[in-house]
Amino acid sequence: MSVANCALTRQGSTTTVRVEQMINICYQFKTETQNDLALPYAVTIDGKVLTEHARRPKVLGADRKIKLSVPTGSEVSLFLNSDSYPRFRNQPVFAVKAGYDDVLVNIKEQYGRLGHVKPVLSAPLYCESGNGKRTETYDAQLTGDIWATISHKYTREEADSILPRSLLPAIRSSILEIYTGLDQPSMLIEIIAQGDKSAKTMQIIWAAGFDENVRKNTSYCPLLSEVLPRTHPLAYASLLAEAYQAGVTKLSLSSGWRPMFGSIVHRSGRGLDVNIIGDDMQEFKMKRTHAFASVNKETGKARSDPPASNSSNGKQTTDSKVPGSIASGATKDLRTRKQDGKEPEVMQRLRDNLHSNNAIDQIFDPWFMDVNTHDKVTPQPNMQRTQIETKHSDHLHITISDECLL
Ligand SMILES: [Zn+2]
Repeated sequence: MSVANCALTRQGSTTTVRVEQMINICYQFKTETQNDLALPYAVTIDGKVLTEHARRPKVLGADRKIKLSVPTGSEVSLFLNSDSYPRFRNQPVFAVKAGYDDVLVNIKEQYGRLGHVKPVLSAPLYCESGNGKRTETYDAQLTGDIWATISHKYTREEADSILPRSLLPAIRSSILEIYTGLDQPSMLIEIIAQGDKSAKTMQIIWAAGFDENVRKNTSYCPLLSEVLPRTHPLAYASLLAEAYQAGVTKLSLSSGWRPMFGSIVHRSGRGLDVNIIGDDMQEFKMKRTHAFASVNKETGKARSDPPASNSSNGKQTTDSKVPGSIASGATKDLRTRKQDGKEPEVMQRLRDNLHSNNAIDQIFDPWFMDVNTHDKVTPQPNMQRTQIETKHSDHLHITISDECLL
């Protein structure tokens, strides 16, 4: 929309003077690593976050667009990913100043080590729209380095303020060291005797491939100082606290924050993966090596062939949503998953504990899938049929809640 007045010049002719104009600005995202990526964002206009984004970021919708209408002269920029959470918002990106033409900013994800690409807009192209109007068009890239910029790196002080006070002192101090900067990708946590539990040592190892996606897509992002602190402190806290309670003495972590693979969960630092788990007795590399022995609930007998459907309505699912059947009780029905004899006992104990942790929203592993740990839907056997099931054939994944960031 534009508003214009006619003014009389000294020579007696009239001229059109633009006194106010509203400019349409559209940011359009092409996130090729995952087309429907649920990217959180908050918009600033002249340095002030929009009221509707103040308490909580929005999430990019199916049209992949952020549409705005702002007065000429306004400067617009975006906070993206975990940097869009109200507590952070340190890295405004893709700033543009509204002139007299509408603006289209095309932002396209780009693989590779492209450290020279910055989250700023270069010279625009002008596209005539036929009615005398033009659109100022910018092409911008969303690289792994820019993902690192918009992925919050937690400080030791922030971690200290986020970690629960109930955490065992040895676990708390070890996690704080992650945010100070470890000097090697492993740590030993010495825990003194607690009640009827004898003293324990937990060994935590970051596996060699933990930062593989980072190395492929960033120019400089060292594992210990830049990658590990981009995973949320609660992810480490929830996993390690529950692992200790389950008698786990060894964990190998295979992925955490990563810029350009999978859902927003890992990109925003809310996901943590485990590929090896051990207790005093044995150590397991997680891997589904046999057909899942599902249970006939009526007869109680196990059968080796999976049922035709893994959903309650008989339809086979092909998307990334994990369906479930409704448990009859007030709490989740966890009985069926005790039937798979090939699952390590320590894994069962750990999953039980993770389920009881309020900070954890999702648990996926080679044996069971739970897309929402807070509902009453029974965790579904991992039947290795959908993409999300096969992706979790060799590791345990947890997603933690981000409510504490508000
Ligand atoms: Zn994961």
